[in-house]
Amino acid sequence: MSRVLIVEDDRQLLRALSINLRARQYDVDAAPDGTSALAVAGRRPPDLVILDLGLPDMTGVDVVHGLRGWCTAPIIVLSARDTQGDKVAALDAGADDYVTKPFGMDELLARIRAALRRASPGDSAPVIRTDAFTIDLATKRVTNPDGDVRLTPTEWHVLEILVRHPGKLIPQKQLLQEVWGPGYESETNYLRVYMAQLRRKLEPDPSRPRHLLTEPGMGYRFTT
Ligand code: CA
Repeated sequence: MSRVLIVEDDRQLLRALSINLRARQYDVDAAPDGTSALAVAGRRPPDLVILDLGLPDMTGVDVVHGLRGWCTAPIIVLSARDTQGDKVAALDAGADDYVTKPFGMDELLARIRAALRRASPGDSAPVIRTDAFTIDLATKRVTNPDGDVRLTPTEWHVLEILVRHPGKLIPQKQLLQEVWGPGYESETNYLRVYMAQLRRKLEPDPSRPRHLLTEPGMGYRFTT
């Protein structure tokens, strides 16, 4: 049973979300503000977090930062239509997906399933070594000469697709579909953000990448 932490100050929405998720056999924790969200997450580590960006005591982006220090569970943010900037800031801070209010319950449930699928361990797989970093696909561990490199679930998923096909050009559309799902095919800015993050974490010189390559207008390619 997956544990979902819902962080939402709108009591009615919080209640509706809790009821719907419990009905689908999720173990639900609920928090009405950022402070209690971080406390609950510490006591009962979630498998996934649903996070409203507009909270009474701190911004949702602060909560993402607070969680990402130690927690790799996928985070889906709920945003109002007029908070485009917050949404981007939340994704930059390590959130994995967003749903714009008002949303349909079916849409949110589909996003939750997709995010949990991305985060769950896959089949046993090889270890891939470059001169700068090593990727163990079975244990989902990335190491460089300084030690472990911590990746968010979404960063990991993008990287995993690329390294499973060494040398192959992976089209933008395919990456967007596989990582974010249908309907995201034109959100190429997601890829730019996540590729930049991966290069910062993995490439010795992120401005001159040697392993995570961009094919302008086409897609991305991993080379050892
Ligand atoms: Ca709110």
